[in-house]
Amino acid sequence: MTSIINADLHCHSVVSDGTLTPEELAARAKGNGVELWALTDHDEIGGQHRAAAAAKAQGMRYLTGTEISVSFIGTTVHIVGLGFDPDNEALKQGLRKTRGGRSERAREMSNDLAKVGIPGAYEGALKFVGNPELISRTHFARYLVEAGVCKETNEVFRKYLTEGKPGFVEHKWATLRDAVTWIKDAGGMAVIAHPARYKFSANEEYALFSEFKNLGGQGVEVVTGSHTAAEYVTYADTAKEFGLAASRGSDFHSPSESHTDLGTLPYLPGELTPVWELLADRTQ
Ligand code: AMP
Ligand code: MN
Ligand code: MN
Ligand code: MN
Repeated sequence: MTSIINADLHCHSVVSDGTLTPEELAARAKGNGVELWALTDHDEIGGQHRAAAAAKAQGMRYLTGTEISVSFIGTTVHIVGLGFDPDNEALKQGLRKTRGGRSERAREMSNDLAKVGIPGAYEGALKFVGNPELISRTHFARYLVEAGVCKETNEVFRKYLTEGKPGFVEHKWATLRDAVTWIKDAGGMAVIAHPARYKFSANEEYALFSEFKNLGGQGVEVVTGSHTAAEYVTYADTAKEFGLAASRGSDFHSPSESHTDLGTLPYLPGELTPVWELLADRTQ
């Protein structure tokens, strides 16, 4: 299959930290010309059957998706899974375990924020949560904007929710091995999400890609809403170096917060193998 198709294989619904339902996302994707779509909620596949049905109703092809939070050499890395069986028990169990510590982490974040003069952030963030098992930093960011602490969510992350800032709480997510194994064993493909976002040295990045490849990971996001045009080129080269297929996805979360809308990124560079070429038999 050609790389010249409007595939968007990364976005979030109310099942994690997006603001639209799977049905609203499907309609928006279709409206923007998306031909092949995947919903990739953080650590959750509870929206997969709805998303697949909505894609079918819109006349779009669909791949199942998720985005798993992983701790790798002290940094949070995101691994996208595509084309797996959404009813696979080990995957569901692994994701449940990965979601497990979120409420406790959120309470700690709230206690820390209270110490710098922002009370009630846990309760405030909960008002924005669509799935009680998935409270994320994004929900805190939305509450702090509503409370007038910051003008926009990006500013909240910069001032409060990133490493070294008062509301950041270190968290231990899944291991790289577990995340890749859960996805593979459920019949899917593991893909490194937005590699340019991690603050890795060249050696650390090499370690991530080589370990991922050794574990059976098969793809990397090249064209994503988190990359600059120069980074498309950098990670196209990385994909070739490690023999990985390439993915494309907006990482859309919300009409009012996301700067990249569904289906609006440039096509994948032609010399790469698109992930959808390897997932043709798992496309619905
Ligand atoms: P969590 O899984 O709770 O750590 O939350 C991670 C989510 O926060 C990511 O998936 C993004 O949606 C959001 N996020 C992380 N960094 C930023 C940022 N600098 N600006 C806006 N959103 C961010
Ligand atoms: Mn998110
Ligand atoms: Mn991510
Ligand atoms: Mn994402």
